[in-house]
Amino acid sequence: MIELTAVSKRYGNTQAVKELSFTVFKGETMVILGTSGSGKTTTIKMINRLVEPDTGEISINGRSAIHEKPEMLRRKIGYVMQNIGLFPHYTVSQNIAVVPKLLNWPEEKIQERSVELLKKLRLSLDCLALFPHELSGGQQQRVGLARALVADPEILLMDEPFGALDNVTRSEIHVEFKGLEEFKRKTIVMVTHDVQEAFELADRICLMHKGEVVQIGTARDLLYRPANDFVRQFLDGARLTLEFKSMSIQDLWELLPAHRMGLKERTDLMGSRKQLQPATLSVWLAMELFNFTVEDYVSFVLTDDPTQMKTISFSELTLAFQQYQQQNVHG
Ligand code: ADP
Repeated sequence: MIELTAVSKRYGNTQAVKELSFTVFKGETMVILGTSGSGKTTTIKMINRLVEPDTGEISINGRSAIHEKPEMLRRKIGYVMQNIGLFPHYTVSQNIAVVPKLLNWPEEKIQERSVELLKKLRLSLDCLALFPHELSGGQQQRVGLARALVADPEILLMDEPFGALDNVTRSEIHVEFKGLEEFKRKTIVMVTHDVQEAFELADRICLMHKGEVVQIGTARDLLYRPANDFVRQFLDGARLTLEFKSMSIQDLWELLPAHRMGLKERTDLMGSRKQLQPATLSVWLAMELFNFTVEDYVSFVLTDDPTQMKTISFSELTLAFQQYQQQNVHG
């Protein structure tokens, strides 16, 4: 869907981005991760031509972005700016309407789509008439997302989209973000300096340093198959949490004990589906479940085979995790 080939950008003596190449597949979330000044923002801005590369090629859907009309790019590419970037003197409704107006949408269509998005993003319709400073940080964030999504672009570029939020709000929005249909269908390139955020949201991570790509891969590639010492050190501070976040119950399935329920209890439980958790859940979120439920056991079900279910305790989960670690680190 998006392909960068040997793209470079220099500002005076600073080589902001150097010979950078990567491909983002349709429907995936690619997170560009790196410390401040590593060239992330420059990279994302070259995709929608807010910054022009000095050399290299960028193509979108097989067409060179360099030759595409900027209006066409805007229609295809939604953009969430760093620090949200809402226009302070525009109401929420006017902020959301910026791109539709550029695209000459009729007033009712803009209104309809704005209301639809506000509902999906769980914002009250009263917000439409308010100014950004009258909203909380989390609400402003949602308006920023609504503005980027309004024209239903195939591609979404997000520059530190959750950067302005406190940790609790940020985690809540992460969970929602992953659950929303509007996002699932999109090809997303997101910039962050926060390794936890990258691990929670990315299908693949592109780790950058000094304008260059150090490694591109899944969270688990970076953890268990680091390209070099830089990658290893970058993750070291948060290694255990990252391991919990990058692994799902499904990954541990074979190591977890078989269910301990009779057929009747299983059918009862299947009847009240809400008690069953999908095995695609990360080990991290599964551990949180144990924290928040009064039950000693939680039941997980394989999403592609709902007859496969396991009911496990917290200690069984940690044991399976340790076994997995031993197999992967020492094997
Ligand atoms: P990141 O997003 O990873 O923090 P940036 O892409 O913003 O990194 O910046 C990469 C490097 O390019 C930094 O050294 C930064 O100072 C420099 N840079 C970025 N934009 C400009 C600009 N408009 N003018 C001059 N230097 C810039």
